[in-house]
Amino acid sequence: MKIDLHTHSVVSDGTDSPEDLIRTAVRAGLDVVALTDHDTGDGLDRAARTADEVGIGFLAGMEMSTAHEGHSVHLLAYGADLDHPDLAGELVRVREGRSGRLRPVLAKLAELGAPVSEAEVQAQVGGSPSVGRPHIADALVAAGHVADRREAFDRFLADGGPAHVPRYATGLFEAVELVARAGGVSVLAHPWGRHTRQVLDLEVFSRLAEAGLAGLEVDHQDHPIELRRELRRIARRLDLLPTGSSDYHGTGKRDHDLGCNTTDPQVYREIVARIG
Ligand code: AMP
Ligand code: FE
Ligand code: FE
Ligand code: ZN
Repeated sequence: MKIDLHTHSVVSDGTDSPEDLIRTAVRAGLDVVALTDHDTGDGLDRAARTADEVGIGFLAGMEMSTAHEGHSVHLLAYGADLDHPDLAGELVRVREGRSGRLRPVLAKLAELGAPVSEAEVQAQVGGSPSVGRPHIADALVAAGHVADRREAFDRFLADGGPAHVPRYATGLFEAVELVARAGGVSVLAHPWGRHTRQVLDLEVFSRLAEAGLAGLEVDHQDHPIELRRELRRIARRLDLLPTGSSDYHGTGKRDHDLGCNTTDPQVYREIVARIG
């Protein structure tokens, strides 16, 4: 059983349509795939329908933008009722923060000698309700300022980079509670990737577990092998479910092919069993 519980489509910052994502998952030999677009579930119905048609297991998910001690932390939510008024209202605030950040970022880019217009970014956003830095990166690529998304992040857009502008995100603990209230199961995405290691330690994991967090994404491309080992130990100690996923973004992210990391079938069954 090959199970991949963290992927993105064009509904946020991936490059495959939800339908294509499912077909690609079949070709990659997956038995179960979750779609977890950033701060929206708008692709879930289309993905679920295609999964039914082609006969692959599907889990509805979402990756929520949260913040802890000034750092951006991503929270995967599985099976949550995204129409639950508390959660839905909060997701609207987060998506408005995403759109509202666009202009100040473009002003900074212009000052830095890499001008792109709002229309050029919107062309990359397409119909996505969740405007992300990768869309701005794609506009920079299209305008010839950088070669690819990675260079756009390295030179301009990364956290703390010269064109970075912070945006609104839900408090991490509040997000865990909101997901639980909406009947969902929450798993911390890439807890020790990039900048989050400094703010997510054993003590925070332990308090999150008490607040209702169900798991830690242990196997992720942003985690070197030693960190995976330590995270797995922590998960065992705190009775958190260890997951593994690709964080596939289509052609938007290198080295994140579908199924490059997978989740144990027993862990998957436990996640599904806890959805309420
Ligand atoms: P945002 O959602 O606007 O905060 O942008 C964060 C997203 O950008 C993440 O979900 C990743 O998909 C992507 N990202 C972050 N860092 C990089 C990077 N160095 N190269 C390419 N994509 C990145
Ligand atoms: Fe992303
Ligand atoms: Fe993420
Ligand atoms: Zn992701």
